[in-house]
Amino acid sequence: MATSAYRGRFAPSPTGPLHLGSLCAALASFLDARAARGEWLLRIEDIDPPREQPGASERIVASLHAHALHWDGEIVFQSRRHAAYAEVVARLLAGGHAFHCNCSRKDLQADHGRHRAACPRSATSPPGASAVRLRACATRYCFDDLILGRVTLPSPAGDDDFVIRRRDGLYAYQLAVVVDDAWQGITHVVRGRDLLDSTPHQVFLHEMLGVPPPRFAHLPLLLNADGDKLSKQNHAPALYDAEASANLLFCLRALGQPVPPREQHDDCEALLRWAIAHWDRTRVPHVDLGVP
Ligand SMILES: [Zn+2]
Repeated sequence: MATSAYRGRFAPSPTGPLHLGSLCAALASFLDARAARGEWLLRIEDIDPPREQPGASERIVASLHAHALHWDGEIVFQSRRHAAYAEVVARLLAGGHAFHCNCSRKDLQADHGRHRAACPRSATSPPGASAVRLRACATRYCFDDLILGRVTLPSPAGDDDFVIRRRDGLYAYQLAVVVDDAWQGITHVVRGRDLLDSTPHQVFLHEMLGVPPPRFAHLPLLLNADGDKLSKQNHAPALYDAEASANLLFCLRALGQPVPPREQHDDCEALLRWAIAHWDRTRVPHVDLGVP
């Protein structure tokens, strides 16, 4: 795929319908792309069938349409990208950057679940039913987040050989995200701060593949009354598409953005045009937000 000056994306997993928290992430990545006159793509990250909910992809697509969050080009479904992931895993194995591993969870218990260097069983086990791990190298990881500023993380990639293909044959989130961001020429990733800890893994993988990583912007999370992130796991209520403009206004406020005049409150297209013209990334709060 060709690259443009700015190419962003929204990449939900179909584990349930969108909720206000995921709408905030979709809206912020949409506004950031459109304000930069960039493209905005939609990728459905359906690589983990046991966690997925039947019909969730269709509901997500319908919700985005209802909120006038229109994407460019065709939707990419990760479930149709297995050949690309297999090719990259084979390349990493052939280059000695990855290895087959048959360690059980119990084997790794002593090191708090981390996998470092020694792999007691791999030499004797057939690679057929094994996981594939990326060989770590010790680094700290430092990057300039477009919202949070300079972020320094002890790179988990530095002391944990992380899984890129699971023992059950499913590809790991980290691998699929990086392969697809590289293939789609994504230049900017705007997403929730719950994924901040994944950034070092993903940058490390980009480096392994010889592709420059995108710029990252991590958004505050919406928290429920118990202080937990709004999420499908915490049974956050599904978006009510019939109140699309009210949902967008809620998210604009949560993102610290100005709100359009009242006459534009009922029309999602007009509301978004106004929001694109007034988008200001520097106003996005740095701290997570309670939902009233
Ligand atoms: Zn191992």
